[in-house]
Amino acid sequence: MPKIVVIGAGIAGVSTAYALLEHGYDVTVLERQRYAAMETSFANGGQLSASNAEVWNHWSTILKGIKWMARASRHSS
Ligand SMILES: Cc1cc2nc3c(=O)[nH]c(=O)nc-3n(C[C@H](O)[C@H](O)[C@H](O)COP(=O)(O)OP(=O)(O)OC[C@H]3O[C@@H](n4cnc5c(N)ncnc54)[C@H](O)[C@@H]3O)c2cc1C
Repeated sequence: MPKIVVIGAGIAGVSTAYALLEHGYDVTVLERQRYAAMETSFANGGQLSASNAEVWNHWSTILKGIKWMARASRHSS
C-alpha cells in the first residue's frame, strides 16, 4: 500500500489525509504544534463561502470591509 506523509494538520492537511485514507492509502500526518488546527485553522470566522476566494489584503477587500463595518445591522434582537 502506498505510504503518504502529509505535513501540517490544519484544515487542508487533515482533509487531504482523510480523503487519502478513504482511498486506501497509508497516511501519516506530521504537525509541529502539539494539537491539530492550532494555527490559521484555529479560530477562523466559520464562514462557508464556496468559490469566494478573495485576497484579504487587496484594497477592494479592505474598502468592502470598512463599508460593512459602517453599515447598520439588518438584524434586530
Ligand atoms: C482571521 C481569519 C478568519 C478566517 N475566516 C475564514 C472563514 O470564515 N471562512 C473560511 O473559509 N476561511 C477563513 N479563513 C481562512 C482559513 O482559516 C484558512 O484558509 C485555513 O485555515 C488554512 O488552512 P491550512 O490547513 O492551509 O493552514 P493552517 O491551518 O495554518 O495549517 C498548516 C499547518 O501546518 C503546520 N506546519 C507548517 N509547517 C510545518 C512543518 N514544517 N512541519 C510540521 N507542521 C508544519 C502548522 O503548524 C499548521 O498547523 C480565515 C483566516 C483567518 C486568519
